[in-house]
Amino acid sequence: MSSTKFTPRVFSGMQPSGDLHLGNYLGAMKRWVDMQDAGQHETVYCMVDLHAITVWQDPAALSRATRELCAGFIAAGIDPEKSILFNQSQVPEHAQLAWIFNCVARMGWMGRMTQWKDKSGKNAEAASLGLLAYPALMAADILVYHATHVPVGEDQKQHLELTRDIAAKFNHDYDVEYFPITEPVIEGAATRVMNLQDGTKKMSKSDPSDKTRINLTDDADAIAKKIKKAKTDPDPLPETVEGLESRPEARNLVNIWAALADTTVEDVVAQNAGKMFGYFKQDLADLAVEKLAPISDEMARLMQDQAEIDRILGRGAERASEIAAPILAQTYDIVGMVRS
Ligand code: ATP
Ligand code: MG
Repeated sequence: MSSTKFTPRVFSGMQPSGDLHLGNYLGAMKRWVDMQDAGQHETVYCMVDLHAITVWQDPAALSRATRELCAGFIAAGIDPEKSILFNQSQVPEHAQLAWIFNCVARMGWMGRMTQWKDKSGKNAEAASLGLLAYPALMAADILVYHATHVPVGEDQKQHLELTRDIAAKFNHDYDVEYFPITEPVIEGAATRVMNLQDGTKKMSKSDPSDKTRINLTDDADAIAKKIKKAKTDPDPLPETVEGLESRPEARNLVNIWAALADTTVEDVVAQNAGKMFGYFKQDLADLAVEKLAPISDEMARLMQDQAEIDRILGRGAERASEIAAPILAQTYDIVGMVRS
């Protein structure tokens, strides 16, 4: 079934599980802004606080991270009038649809998720049930809006495939064409920004070492230091893009440059061919500070007015519920829940 009978709608979410980093910005947020501004789709963006607690969060830190994420979205260019911006727990339909999907998804599907394996680690017995079930909640986040397009980083590809499997199985089990088969939108030069100290791992909010990532709240000094200390190999920049093969750390810095400058990897390589990394990193640090400093300044300014952030989230939740409530109600009807 194609998704053409559904109104084009974009949904994406981010966890308030720590500091926003460059990977979140380049892989997701910056492209959310592009999709909002293109004006072709209705855009719905969410702080997924229910996902964050799949691993324990300090309550005060969780509230702060949720508001900070909201400030970060607005600072990066999300307009709460043009887009619907809210936190997940204020729209109960997400968790309600997730329960239905818990009963549609199969245990085998969940156990095969790479993120589950990575995050549960060697001690899966001690992981929360929520961590295993997380992708069913993510499917509900998306499908409770009948969203057709989901802009995310590369690491979420497998969860989006699962979302499609859940939609297809629901449609099949109840003999309906009710949920769209959502399209992942994974685009740009930085769909997978890597850890600055280990080019084989992705940059992550939950990595305990702060040196591994650039946070959107880092000041110019910290950004420059982290880029200068980023792991690289001893060779200069290659003459061609092929020359970046099997050089994951070098490739990562070139990708970051291309995404920050809104240009291509080919272009960055052509501009910097033969340059030593010491000089390249200096220029990259300048570029990163130029692009990120205005966002972090604006975030800090917005964070001073918590009441305004809470008002924006509340209003966003109301608008989100207007879409989600009828979609959930119809799902209940399809499943056979009595509503009186
Ligand atoms: P956590 O480590 O807690 O899972 P995270 O850094 O992976 O945090 P998420 O909130 O899980 O952040 O993801 C939010 C969005 O950012 C998703 O669209 C995800 O694909 C994207 N994203 C996360 N990390 C990267 C990265 N290193 N490069 C590109 N996109 C990323
Ligand atoms: Mg993640």
